[in-house]
Amino acid sequence: MEKEIHYCPNEHGLMVVKKIPKNITFRGEEISIQEEIFVCEKCGIEVATIEQTAAIQDAISDAYRKKMGLLTGAEIREQRESLSLTQQELAKRTGVGIASIKRWENGIIQTKSMNISLKEAFQKIKVGNSYTGNRALSIPRIKLVMKEFEKELGESFLEEGDMMLFDAKYLWYADMIAFHRIGQSLTGATYAALPHGPQMNNYKELIGLIRDSDETEATPLTDEEKKIILRVALAFPKKQLAYEASHREEVWNKKTVGSTIPYSDAAKLTEIQT
Ligand SMILES: [Zn+2]
Repeated sequence: MEKEIHYCPNEHGLMVVKKIPKNITFRGEEISIQEEIFVCEKCGIEVATIEQTAAIQDAISDAYRKKMGLLTGAEIREQRESLSLTQQELAKRTGVGIASIKRWENGIIQTKSMNISLKEAFQKIKVGNSYTGNRALSIPRIKLVMKEFEKELGESFLEEGDMMLFDAKYLWYADMIAFHRIGQSLTGATYAALPHGPQMNNYKELIGLIRDSDETEATPLTDEEKKIILRVALAFPKKQLAYEASHREEVWNKKTVGSTIPYSDAAKLTEIQT
């Protein structure tokens, strides 16, 4: 790029490459970037080559992602490579196509829910499978499982203002039993021992995303998974029963508040036959 020569369109001769700080508004957010472009020192006109324009777009995308708490393209690539994952392997673990991984690493901004899936996938590989039940978190699948419970119980879940106080108990039992019986959770959710019972980690952040997600994007439930959901629904035909049962579980009430309940605790459940 240094070898490229540009002449001022206003006939002032050679332009020079400069790094210029810029504040711009992108998707309603104020962000600061550095643009590397050709500048005429006489008239100040700025010209960007195709490569410089692409680099500026990447800088905007990364600055925006940084500001919004999303992984930048470089961070996705670095974390993937540090775990010795190919783009294909990361795609599989996050439940997306390889083209999405390539795009995110090259400046296209991932959604907030996909960012959570990416972080969970990285985390899962780092800490092993015990916290996610051997599956990358799938937000649409949480909704799919809740819809299945609605069908079996004739109760509604995920309602406006509902903080998943009861929903999470059904989800937790079904995830734990699925891990115990088939070696994989239904949703990839991580659970913590919170004062009102077992609850999804980051549930406050996740509830809106779950409600807004499209359950048809999730891998469909297998017959075996549907049977597990039915088993939990039959064990706790009313929401209050699931709530109370979860509070009798030692894997919850013996834990310190906020600690993670590993899926390996599934074998110690007492209120339902696993
Ligand atoms: Zn000029």
